Amino acid sequence: MAFDYDSENIFAKILRGEIPNDTVLETEHSLAFRDIRPQAPVHVLVIPKGAYISYDHFAQEASEAEIVDYVRAIGEVCRMEGVEGDGFRMISNAGEHGVQEVPHLHVHILGGRPLGRMLQ
Ligand code: C5P
Repeated sequence: MAFDYDSENIFAKILRGEIPNDTVLETEHSLAFRDIRPQAPVHVLVIPKGAYISYDHFAQEASEAEIVDYVRAIGEVCRMEGVEGDGFRMISNAGEHGVQEVPHLHVHILGGRPLGRMLQ
């Protein structure tokens, strides 16, 4: 499958500095910032800086350095936000069925309150 990245998506604009964001962590290959419509006391989005639409796109085309950086950035955000102890949820919506609003790979990190059961 060919991945057709839309460089005008809102996270691409954030990465280019065209739209402000509330940064939590920036690393060589990743950026973490607070969701503008938080669904929990902690709601941070972690994105790779590279032009990847989805997890599948990232897994296929990102370098090992980008992948390691991204996975570590997610862990670092959980530690920084203090959700490691009580627990948290990671979600990555993909495509139409996943109701992905922004077509740039992002992981939501949610925590700071009991989140309820998602899957039955
Ligand atoms: O559904 P999806 O996982 O694509 O959700 C995108 C998220 O990006 C939403 O939770 C929305 O609040 C967030 N967002 C943001 N800053 C923007 C635009 C969207 O945090 N400027």
